[in-house]
Amino acid sequence: MIKEKMTEEIHISKVQSRIYTLVKQRGVILSYSNVKPLQSLLHVFILMGILLVNDACSQKIPSKNLIMNNKDTNQYSIQKTEAEWKEQLTDAEFHVLRNKGTERPYTSEFEHFWEPGVYVCKGCGAELFEAKTKFDAGCGWPSFYKSINPVAVKEILDKSHGMVRTEVVCAKCGGHLGHVFNDGFDQPTGLRYCINGVSLGFKKKED
Ligand code: FE
Repeated sequence: MIKEKMTEEIHISKVQSRIYTLVKQRGVILSYSNVKPLQSLLHVFILMGILLVNDACSQKIPSKNLIMNNKDTNQYSIQKTEAEWKEQLTDAEFHVLRNKGTERPYTSEFEHFWEPGVYVCKGCGAELFEAKTKFDAGCGWPSFYKSINPVAVKEILDKSHGMVRTEVVCAKCGGHLGHVFNDGFDQPTGLRYCINGVSLGFKKKED
């Protein structure tokens, strides 16, 4: 009787040991089959996040014809003195177009303006952007996904204010318009021409 009980206890002990081993093995298997891939996946997501942040912070230069130096103001066909520009433009227009200023976001008359037509340079009247390429980027400035033609604007490397950006100016008068970014994710070109509304005029489409 005692011997039978001892045999039974040993058997139970062996079964418990076996169960413990199986649970341990399963735990190890789980840790490798589930956790490891999750960790790898997490690493991939972290890496993707770093790359995206890096990409956003250092905007790629979208134009192949990027001008590296804008010191040569004689490259523009329309030339005026500062006094002439001041006489022609309002203070706000002069600040943006001639002094590379930035209008306050969400203040432009074109912020929620969707009439068909063409946007022109407030400085010289050159046609710059078609209304059909304007989109609501939610950034507070009129946004376009491309200029009216490849030579209407010039794109210049801008390292001011501790950032690397691409400045957009009127190709005829050199007036500062804004910047172009490569975050027009849902747009045909992937670009966002972020333009100060005060630097623009508007020509309604003629039927
Ligand atoms: Fe212009």
